[in-house]
Amino acid sequence: MSAARTLRSVSELEEAGLVPEGSSQAEVARVGERYAVAVTPAVAALIDNSDPSDPIARQFLPDAAELTALAEERADPIGDLAHSPVEGIIHRYPDRVLLKAVHVCPVYCRFCFRREMVGPTGLGTLTPEQLDAAIDYIATHPEIWEVILTGGDPLVLSPRRLREIMQRLAAIEHVKVARIHTRVPVVEPERIDADLVAALKASGKTTYVALHANHPRELTAQARAACARLIDAGVAMISQTVLLKGVNDDAEILATLMRAFVENRIQPYYLHHPDLAPGTSHFRLSLSEGRAIVERLRGHISGLCQPTYILDLPGGYGKVPVLSAAVREEGDGRFRIRDFRGVEHLYPPQPED
Ligand code: SF4
Repeated sequence: MSAARTLRSVSELEEAGLVPEGSSQAEVARVGERYAVAVTPAVAALIDNSDPSDPIARQFLPDAAELTALAEERADPIGDLAHSPVEGIIHRYPDRVLLKAVHVCPVYCRFCFRREMVGPTGLGTLTPEQLDAAIDYIATHPEIWEVILTGGDPLVLSPRRLREIMQRLAAIEHVKVARIHTRVPVVEPERIDADLVAALKASGKTTYVALHANHPRELTAQARAACARLIDAGVAMISQTVLLKGVNDDAEILATLMRAFVENRIQPYYLHHPDLAPGTSHFRLSLSEGRAIVERLRGHISGLCQPTYILDLPGGYGKVPVLSAAVREEGDGRFRIRDFRGVEHLYPPQPED
């Protein structure tokens, strides 16, 4: 499929032939009213419309299944709001903060854990005053060693605005690392040009880019070239992948993806268990199923290619490595999980947990 520009509504997807015949058009239209939709030309070109199970289509095209919300799902599945001292800052762990300057993305992933916050009707972009307050929070907390720009996708900002943010972070002595979480090198690779790459370099600091990609087909020649432009300029890259039913819940697919990251100088970092975001149960495996898939990677592929499989505990208690002593099966499909502060939680949680 080809598209000349980003498709931003169900009707635009229909016109481009990207809503399959026979799908419930009225229900898909309701999904488009409820959650943001965007498919870039690079993603449209990757979708194989002849395959009803296409793993790229599944990630980006709205599906009637999104109208099914379960009781244990939450608008704020990983508890961002419980750790937000000022607008745009999430301070969950001692030595690092999230800085969420923008809540729009070049694409809208159907499984997004922040789907209630991102999009045209989401939390928007920080005002200049809010950004000042967020930077001031970082500057006045000397324990903050790393700032993680996320959102939304920070690389939708112009190089000028990114440069300004990076320079303001560079001026804070105790901040040593800036990390940017993004889908842009895959979904809009042409955006990674010399101007943007230069904007990400902060004098005297280390810049990491964490690339979100879930299927080996996403790493096209254009995406690989975009990553090379970043890495050749001295930006370190790591990966993050969400383990998704019908997309990559297969050890062979994950092995191919992790090897592709390493071949492109991107260090595999996190494999996320899918979060309890509303209307995403069709993407979620059980923790037992996820463990079985990830255990099949061990020993079969190089140690360089092993991501850490993690669960972000609902409620804002932080990330826990799933294949660790902190996670114990209770025997009834539930797990008892110890967070990094030593407090135990049951997973999946009861709706009222
Ligand atoms: S790019 Fe990230 S924040 Fe944006 S829709 Fe996808 S998962 Fe959500």
